[in-house]
Amino acid sequence: MSKYLSTRFTNLETYVPGEQPQDMLYVKLNTNESPFPPAPAVQEAISQAEIRLLNLYPDPECRLLRQKLADHYSVKIENIFLSNGSDELLNFFFMAFCDAEKPVAFPSISYGFYPVYACLYQLPYTEIPLHENFRLDPSDYCGIHKNIVIANPNAPTGRAISVAEIEEIVRTNTSHVVMIDEAYIDFGGESCLLLTKKYENLLVCQTFSKFRSLAGGRLGFAIGNPDLIADLDKMKYSTNSYNINRLTMAAAIATLESDGYYVNNSKIIQDNRAYTTSALEKLGFETIPSEANFIFTRCKTIEGGALYRALKSKGILVRHWDKPTIADWCRVTIGSREQMDMFLAKVREILEEVN
Ligand SMILES: *Cc1c(COP(=O)(O)O)cnc(C)c1O
Repeated sequence: MSKYLSTRFTNLETYVPGEQPQDMLYVKLNTNESPFPPAPAVQEAISQAEIRLLNLYPDPECRLLRQKLADHYSVKIENIFLSNGSDELLNFFFMAFCDAEKPVAFPSISYGFYPVYACLYQLPYTEIPLHENFRLDPSDYCGIHKNIVIANPNAPTGRAISVAEIEEIVRTNTSHVVMIDEAYIDFGGESCLLLTKKYENLLVCQTFSKFRSLAGGRLGFAIGNPDLIADLDKMKYSTNSYNINRLTMAAAIATLESDGYYVNNSKIIQDNRAYTTSALEKLGFETIPSEANFIFTRCKTIEGGALYRALKSKGILVRHWDKPTIADWCRVTIGSREQMDMFLAKVREILEEVN
């Protein structure tokens, strides 16, 4: 830290992304990326013709891609906002809607970026505790008269709540904005995006980073009523009007035209999730039921941090947090069957070593 940094950032705790080591090849099960490459049409879309256009700025309104997404989700183009990863969208949500009079609430165990943005903007925020086995009780959020962010399915637990439960939260907080972060919705959950037609205070946040194999392209989007979208636009045009680059835009359009490929990949992930969960159960692990492309799991005979380190030394990366409430647990991304077999083989080795 230099002596020039504004004092309002002195105590800012930043988000710590999962490791992206470049030193050796790991089986990467730590940041919930897809193990599958983008569809062939996506690889072709990043063509010489598109690359040759990189001397020109992209369309700041991203009309082609927004229209494609609108058609895909049966909404209108004015219901769609695009962001540089959904992290940028979350940033704009905190920036646009939250302040000292409009505080924000989110679950105590959830995506690590929420408290970071709250701190960045020096917002009053409430972390609402989860219940036994990381269950989220929707009634904790009904009528609280705060802005609300909920990841559904939640990360890192994998648990989801129902659309009816989300509707109750949205319906009882109409003086505030409810953001449902659906980063993992395409792995078996049910999206609440159609509720945006009924409620003007609901924003649904999705990403191309997980189900759509495009984490490196950085694309997220919001669906909501046009006035909320205009508020987000205000943030965008005050920070970076060209937030979506040409190559990502071309890749995303081809992605939406290859939907079957991604739906099939999601089926494989869901099969591998069931396979891995039951194999771990036989090894004495307890796993939270997941509707996402990862599982949250723990073993009685080895603490979470020790398991994480032992796996890393054997070339497998998973995610572990050194926080008291979840220190026993590891979050394991569900990859290809080969990756999960390698992971399970190393887990068996480690258990033999400790027992
Ligand atoms: C991965 C993730 C995101 C961010 O994804 P981007 O790559 O920025 O689109 C947002 N929310 C949750 C809950 C996530 O797990």
